[in-house]
Amino acid sequence: MPLKKNLRQLLFWFLAFTLFVAVYQNMKGVEKERQLPYSEFKQKLRDKQITDVSVRQDLISGKMKEGDKTVSFKTIPMTDAKLIEDMEGAGVTNFKAEADRGWIAGLILNIGWILIFVFIWWFLFIRQAQMGGKQAMAFGKSKAKQQDLKKQKVTFKDVAGCDETKEELKDIVDYLKNPKKYQTLGGELPKGVLLYGSPGTGKTLLARAVAGEAGVPFFTASGSEFVEMFVGVGASRVRDLFERAKKSAPAIIFLDELDAVGRSRFAGIGGGHDEREQTLNQMLVELDGFESKEGIILIGATNRPDVLDTALLRPGRFDRRINVPVPDIKGRLEILNVHAKKIKLTPDTDMSVIARHTPGCTGADLSNIVNEAAILAAKKEQKSVDLKDLEEAIEKMLAGPQRKSRIISDSEKRVVAYHEAGHTLVAKTLPGCDPVHKVTIIPRGPALGYTMQMPLEDKYLTSKTEILNRICVLLGGRAAEEIAIGEITTGAHDDLNKVTSFVQKMVMEFGMSEKIGLQSLKKDESEVFLGRDIMRQAGYSNETARIVDEEIKRIISDSYMKAKAALTGNRKALDAIAARLIENEVIDAAEIDSLMAAAKAV
Ligand code: ADP
Ligand code: ZN
Repeated sequence: MPLKKNLRQLLFWFLAFTLFVAVYQNMKGVEKERQLPYSEFKQKLRDKQITDVSVRQDLISGKMKEGDKTVSFKTIPMTDAKLIEDMEGAGVTNFKAEADRGWIAGLILNIGWILIFVFIWWFLFIRQAQMGGKQAMAFGKSKAKQQDLKKQKVTFKDVAGCDETKEELKDIVDYLKNPKKYQTLGGELPKGVLLYGSPGTGKTLLARAVAGEAGVPFFTASGSEFVEMFVGVGASRVRDLFERAKKSAPAIIFLDELDAVGRSRFAGIGGGHDEREQTLNQMLVELDGFESKEGIILIGATNRPDVLDTALLRPGRFDRRINVPVPDIKGRLEILNVHAKKIKLTPDTDMSVIARHTPGCTGADLSNIVNEAAILAAKKEQKSVDLKDLEEAIEKMLAGPQRKSRIISDSEKRVVAYHEAGHTLVAKTLPGCDPVHKVTIIPRGPALGYTMQMPLEDKYLTSKTEILNRICVLLGGRAAEEIAIGEITTGAHDDLNKVTSFVQKMVMEFGMSEKIGLQSLKKDESEVFLGRDIMRQAGYSNETARIVDEEIKRIISDSYMKAKAALTGNRKALDAIAARLIENEVIDAAEIDSLMAAAKAV
């Protein structure tokens, strides 16, 4: 590619130079070749200043003396029967007639010029188009790249630390390897798989690994490539991409940044984006248009599954969604080991130290750390990379400007661990709470940790006890901080938001406070929205408002006491859960149970 580009550049400058020279010569010629009126020509002839003449039907040209110089001249001929006689009389020794140049000859002469201009126009157009990052000439062609199978085969072995995700993708590999097996049974396989997770968690890598494992061609394109400035270009690129993939089926089409095209069509103020919408529609058409028997699997990747158009997620489209999580401590160690194989590591370097110090890091971050460490070691002219280099690399990444994922310090980690352990323990000890499914202190988005509770069944009605339980669980985080750390942090602010809105609803909407009784004090939001009746009093007295505030305060402080009591009564379990969280970052339901049982037994 660069060679071709250079060649083109060279050609351009060459032609530009030629053109310049030609124009220059031409101008000089024009200047030198004097245009004479016929009368003056005849006069000069009579004065014997003309030396050479060549006559054409439409032009007379030749040379004449001017002082002691010889200059060229030309003139338009007139019907002049005596011209030859006059020339002979004037002693012009060298005169001749020239055949008339027809228009074809003229055209041929000019075609060179036309070509040069066309070329220059084309070149400038292309250049300008490319400067905008777009290849205007390739308009409707998809820029999707096809991965060379033999060159770099990625397999599941290259992807570490996301075993569950790999397990789910194995079905697809199996299907691509022997589609017959599935087709004879008539089962419907997914056409589209959506991988979602933070940037750098290895979505692209996984998709490549699926192609590598199955030994099928891999087409990649990025959603942003489809959103061009010209309406319709994206749609035709989508068509082209699918056509190319179909030709080499079975194959995988990987669409990175799916949200660039697949954003919900009605989101945003000021209407949609025409081009994006067309592209999305085309994608839906293509998705519906091919049968899963054709052996094409579409893998989409996004870090914003929440903004995707629901049409994309319907059955028969991207109907299988797979999470690619930020790795936990075990996953990080595995990823580090994968990347450490590529560098020269001092023997018995303990990678688990690095894994412990990098909570919240994605696979891409870890790969960067290892790479950076190798560079640092090389700078110091070491023979191999050691632990110190790796630690230095972490620090460098922490200080770096483009730090994408957050790394939390050990003391923060302790606070987060106790906070989450608090939620968990309250949920485990209060009767009637939803079971805790999983606790983690791996940062995700703005949250530093997460306690995942799963209700046993879908519910449409919630009892007062259930709401109170939920409030206690939410307050358990802050309570644990107070009990175990002796200091409270801002970590609970989201919990407190939720608690407040729950309690407000209990008191003002659900009639769950005895003092307020069975009245709804909810404001009619439509009136506020319309701006009418702003001056109207709230539908209740100041006295009622005061009681509402008191009730809200009372319910929250009662719940907080309850949460604290639950935690102080199980202090050993709290410490055990927090300690395990600091160590492993994730604990599942079974482990929580065994930790609690062990704490009770002591
Ligand atoms: P995404 O597509 O999710 O943004 P990528 O697949 O592009 O992330 O990952 C970028 C790089 O990070 C990969 O090329 C790889 O070197 C490294 N990486 C990410 N996740 C993993 C993983 N689970 N195992 C090994 N390397 C990983
Ligand atoms: Zn919390």
